[in-house]
Amino acid sequence: MSGPTLPDAQAQDEARTLELTRGLSAVRDRIAAACDAVGRDPALVTLIVVTKFFPAPDLVRLLRLGVTDIGENRDQEAAAKLDQLRALAPQTLPRVHFIGQLQTNKATSVARYADVVHSVDRQRLVRALERGAQAAQRTLEVLIQVNLDEQQDVGDSGNGAARTGPGRGGVAPWELPEVAGVVEQCPSLRLRGLMGVAPLGGQADRAFERLAALSRQLQGEHPGADVISAGMSGDLEAAVAAGATHLRVGSAILGSRPPHG
Ligand SMILES: *Cc1c(COP(=O)(O)O)cnc(C)c1O
Repeated sequence: MSGPTLPDAQAQDEARTLELTRGLSAVRDRIAAACDAVGRDPALVTLIVVTKFFPAPDLVRLLRLGVTDIGENRDQEAAAKLDQLRALAPQTLPRVHFIGQLQTNKATSVARYADVVHSVDRQRLVRALERGAQAAQRTLEVLIQVNLDEQQDVGDSGNGAARTGPGRGGVAPWELPEVAGVVEQCPSLRLRGLMGVAPLGGQADRAFERLAALSRQLQGEHPGADVISAGMSGDLEAAVAAGATHLRVGSAILGSRPPHG
């Protein structure tokens, strides 16, 4: 079987670029409308385009369309894709946000290419990222992921993700000061704020309001930690209303992801 002929490939490339152009402009319109509704300045809301499962040429297209920040959630995929992206030599490289649950043994790799890690949820991971950042001679920005599920076992002070629901992760709100304190002690990490994912089937607006309240508390102790990363394709309006500074949007721009591989 032969691949597509050259004109076909070119037509496909143009069709994909058009798709991304439309997706991006629809999402930018939604962000502008959501900001307008609550009197916020859209310039203070950063759009992170979540490119997980999508190939490097899509990243090149997005960069040409003015995207500055991309999000990835799996180390192996992200590292390989960013190598490809560098080989394609775009004029500018994006800021890279690591947004997925992160195993401690992947921290060294992630510290080499990520600019911001959104999914810090335990002290062991903080220390692993610090070692990785030192080895790479880089400074990493760090967000602490907060578990926004409503029913949590208050009083369970276990360590790590085992306690939290499957797939979502995050520290319990009462663990936040302790983990933030550990990040602050790491010379190669900069505590920038909080990240949250609305509970499955839950009310995103309530969850994001709680995240915003935790952010205000955190900033009392750590004034530089003013980032709130919240909101995805389905709930970005609620996140903007609650004061999110960073939105993580994938499928509304890139289309539905291929089945999990
Ligand atoms: C995949 C993912 C997103 C983007 O989700 P969409 O619904 O495709 O916009 C945002 N945040 C995290 C943590 C993700 O894993």
